[in-house]
Amino acid sequence: MRLDYLTIFPDYLAPLRLSLPGKAVESGLLELHVHDLRSWTTDKHRTVDDTPYGGGAGMVMKPEPFGAAFDALEIEPGDTIVFTTPSGERFDQRVAEDLATRSRLVFACGRYEGIDQRVIDHARTRAEAREISLGDYVLNGGEVAALAITEAVVRLLPGFMGNAASLVEESHAAGGLLEYPVFTKPPTWDDRSVPDVLRSGDHGAIARWRHEQARRRTAERRPDLLAPSALADGTPIERAVPGDAGELMTLQRACWVQEAVANPGAPIPAFAESLDDVRAWLGEWDTYVVRRAGRLVGAVRGRLEPDGTTWDIGRVMVAPDVQGQGLGRALLEHVQAAAPAAATSYTLFTGAGSDRNQRIYKKAGFRLRTDLPAPPGAVVLVKQRSHA
Ligand code: SAM
Repeated sequence: MRLDYLTIFPDYLAPLRLSLPGKAVESGLLELHVHDLRSWTTDKHRTVDDTPYGGGAGMVMKPEPFGAAFDALEIEPGDTIVFTTPSGERFDQRVAEDLATRSRLVFACGRYEGIDQRVIDHARTRAEAREISLGDYVLNGGEVAALAITEAVVRLLPGFMGNAASLVEESHAAGGLLEYPVFTKPPTWDDRSVPDVLRSGDHGAIARWRHEQARRRTAERRPDLLAPSALADGTPIERAVPGDAGELMTLQRACWVQEAVANPGAPIPAFAESLDDVRAWLGEWDTYVVRRAGRLVGAVRGRLEPDGTTWDIGRVMVAPDVQGQGLGRALLEHVQAAAPAAATSYTLFTGAGSDRNQRIYKKAGFRLRTDLPAPPGAVVLVKQRSHA
């Protein structure tokens, strides 16, 4: 990947040569070029700013130096120009992942009151132009934002991190949860001990403990992240709350009536569950629900099995009156994406006579596994997880 920076403070970007990005430059993975925007000025004072049309406080960055810089840097349609600005799209891990797919990023760092709008409009005619904000606050200049964006992007490049697995487990990774607390040696410090489970050597128990901690931390600190997905029409897929138990029981009964018809004679435990049973499993499973017009019309649950690598999916439920609209498929996709990084496969049961369900699961990549144990009257389906 090639990175160019247009700035009036080239020294501000010196940290790019430190640490991992520095090593990536040495290894040839990255090519970095920091340019002094003033070298494309033509007057004796090397002026890059002027007073704003329409009046007002502060100065605005002039268009000509940027235009000349874009020419000199031979910006092409395949390149991406990033304008750092507090009025841009908010930078996050998804934007970082997207930018990491580009072969060249050119950062235009603003100063003063920002850059003349025509520069951005012009940039759009010759390359992809993105206006990106680091967050909802105002910095003095775009250099800090360019540094932060660079660091978040380049660590995603294949070969950049010594251990790529550390990317999968992190906060804001695909599962959408914040990272669990981490510990290192010594086992006791300041009278505080490392949680026993982490020293138990039981990988399944460790994975489950970490996932539970990540869930709890996310709920406390960033509840907004717990509804990361939505249906195509914008309806959110939300995490169930204890108060959903009653509606879940109703939905469960409605759906399992159909199951009972499709699997005559098979025991249907979900049909017989009491409200307390539903409350109990709600506390143990990651459960997601969809509401339409205030009514709970869809749900699914997932949990890590004791082996720490199998994500057990169940209770994929869609209210009978809204079936056939893709809701079950969306819930199934959602619960798979929500599996913790430790999960390497998905498993689920359905009725041996539930042809419609089996068709849906097979279409979603699940395979029937007659070699694995299943409850009476049911079949087990398994899918290997592919980490993107
Ligand atoms: N007048 C501008 C406004 O209100 O949107 C703020 C200009 S700011 C003082 C100067 C430069 O700092 C901006 O052009 C931009 O490059 C950079 N900057 C400030 N805050 C930023 C943020 N949150 N994200 C990205 N860049 C920022």
